Amino acid sequence: MDSKAKTIGYAQGGTELAYLRTGLKFIALTMFALVGWVKVRFTSRPTLIILTYHRILPTDHPDRKHEQPGMVTAPEVLQAHIRHMKSLGAAPLHLNEWLEKRSGNEPLPDLSFALTFDDGWRDNYQYAYPVLTAENIPATIFLVTQLLDTNQTFWPEQVLTLLTTRAIPDSVPDFQWLIPFLPNQKATEKPLTLKEADEVISRLKALDDQSILNHLKAIPGQGHLPEDTANIRSILNTPELVKMATNGLIRYGGHTQHHYRLNRISDASQLKREIVDCLDDLKKLDKGVVPIFCYPNGNITKDGERLVAEHYEAACTTRTGWNKVNQDPFDLHRFNLHDGNSYSFRTLLATIGRGIL
Ligand SMILES: [Zn+2]
Repeated sequence: MDSKAKTIGYAQGGTELAYLRTGLKFIALTMFALVGWVKVRFTSRPTLIILTYHRILPTDHPDRKHEQPGMVTAPEVLQAHIRHMKSLGAAPLHLNEWLEKRSGNEPLPDLSFALTFDDGWRDNYQYAYPVLTAENIPATIFLVTQLLDTNQTFWPEQVLTLLTTRAIPDSVPDFQWLIPFLPNQKATEKPLTLKEADEVISRLKALDDQSILNHLKAIPGQGHLPEDTANIRSILNTPELVKMATNGLIRYGGHTQHHYRLNRISDASQLKREIVDCLDDLKKLDKGVVPIFCYPNGNITKDGERLVAEHYEAACTTRTGWNKVNQDPFDLHRFNLHDGNSYSFRTLLATIGRGIL
């Protein structure tokens, strides 16, 4: 075999392997989907499935270029999820309604589903709310109260925008803190791909949220954006919150004051502010507030849990699974959905099926 033939042989081998991999993935997904479907059909009742979303953005939205793929769902995918859940016989309910009916021993649907949205993104108003209104589906949004009505955003989005739009040279002192977290722990000569930048976000979680935000603030053009640039506001404001709560379709729970991961807070008064004062901030909204907490990044600590249990009636975690009638209200399980894991009925079922194995 000459070298050209060998190369073609390798190439064919590579293609066959790729086909095999795709085929195996298809089979695995189908099996998981089947498990999901069987569980939906035959699970003991009553059961609540909580579906979680973050950002709802059209497929051509510019923000997608600087966002973690696991955070984004297209409006039509959200709409399809709702229709799929209905077709499985699941009844839509407000999360707090299910919890209240349960504690009051009132009858519950055999299978219910509740939608939750984390962080309070402005796109929830722009792109999710019209879908929820059209489908008449209730939802709870977990708000980061001190970010409402501001042009601030979370540090992962600031870092992603920075890394995907410019190089991070060694020569700039304001970038020194970031270099150990970059690929190969080296300065970059060109912008990173979204995948590379996403991996930097995971590594940066070794630092605490406030240190990252302080570092970002020191970089010119980062951190606080000018108040007059309303078109780049990414978090909900009060008029939007009031409008969505008017007909009772949307309710609001607490997701701390600043989205600091609670396991990174050692100061007791700061922990209290993030959990308890967050609820006080929410109550100023007057409409649609429910005493349900959602742990940022799913990080839970004993002190945090105690404060949450004293001031709220329930809490959502990032643990996946179904909620049976005896589920601990402070350990509600959810399925985090995004375009990548639920773009079709089969993948939605597979995600739900995988989460319960
Ligand atoms: Zn969050």
